[in-house]
Amino acid sequence: MTVLECPAQHDETAAPTEFYFELLHTSTKSRARVGRIHTPHGVIDTPNFVGVGTNGTLKALDNATVQQIGLQLMFCNTYHLLLQPGVEIVQKAGGLHRFINRSLPIITDSGGFQVFSLAYGSVADELKSRGTKKQEGHVLKISEEGVLFRSYRNGEKVLLTPETSISAQKALGADIIIPFDELPPYHISAEALQQSLDRTHRWEERSLKAHLQNRQGQAMYAVIHGGINPEMRKASCDFLTQLAFDGFAIGGSMGKTKQEMHTMLSQTMDHLPTDKPNHLLGIGDLESIDLCVPLGIDTFDSSYPTRAARHGVLLTNQGPLKIMRSDNATDFGPPEKGCACPTCQQFSLAYIHHLFKAKEMTCMTLATIHNLHFMVQLMQSYREKILNNEV
Ligand SMILES: [Zn+2]
Repeated sequence: MTVLECPAQHDETAAPTEFYFELLHTSTKSRARVGRIHTPHGVIDTPNFVGVGTNGTLKALDNATVQQIGLQLMFCNTYHLLLQPGVEIVQKAGGLHRFINRSLPIITDSGGFQVFSLAYGSVADELKSRGTKKQEGHVLKISEEGVLFRSYRNGEKVLLTPETSISAQKALGADIIIPFDELPPYHISAEALQQSLDRTHRWEERSLKAHLQNRQGQAMYAVIHGGINPEMRKASCDFLTQLAFDGFAIGGSMGKTKQEMHTMLSQTMDHLPTDKPNHLLGIGDLESIDLCVPLGIDTFDSSYPTRAARHGVLLTNQGPLKIMRSDNATDFGPPEKGCACPTCQQFSLAYIHHLFKAKEMTCMTLATIHNLHFMVQLMQSYREKILNNEV
């Protein structure tokens, strides 16, 4: 674990000795697997849920509490941290772990997803015909070099390229980083998707090159693209698995329905190596986790449980519990019987119902604690079921 500090073996281009994946068991019933991702900031048991802390915090929860609940991996967004507070400030603070007071593993993305969402609107908005939330004025130029956009914070021009994204992610210092990629719109011709895929591959290769010049003990996951086109997904796997990436994230359009996503993932997983970890980007609702764990997905990131909490929904083993329902007003038992989370151990459902009715901010914190604890327990139970070949 101290190889990077040992002068005799010091080699910044060497593989990150502190990062490796241990495959412990593959189910006899499906492709579900249990493993351990070792990182410089500790172990991530897989399969696992990854909490989303866009600005360096999960919404309504401080990082000390998040660690106590046992969330092993947290996702932070480079795009947001780049614009506020800026990577220089995080660097001055001693890196992202120190700045946000988290001693456990962190993953950052490249900023590509957010910047292309500005240009095209998010895929979800596009599919739900909500009218895209795109702010065309903010993206000034998309070229082979990268994307030039205007900061929504201060109006300054920012150039995001494979090299500047990796440089920002080096300054932040997360355990796992992501290459710069293009997020094409869902409604796109096969020809345009192919062009986007080719450019994404060139950008990912440039990102990897920038990363390998100074690994800093970080691992880099490639992002597999290709939309719902099986040949393009395969081509993306074939291209990216040839390169020295430490793991593989699956990104881009996942399809219109969960079934479409399941079909795409099931085909894509055939082309990924089993000795490296994988991650499903931006998907982590209960139904999707249940569908995708049997496919061998290792980690899922989503703001679903924290967003549900803020909207007054508790995730329980009996299904979603709507806090605002009037019959909860006189339920003086815990929100979920048998739950060991700090909220259920200390507060009644009636009290949390009251806090939501009174619009007290504390209600969001208490509900988020429960939902995050639920996710941690849920993933633990998946791991146990896989070890018993029940999934
Ligand atoms: Zn609870």
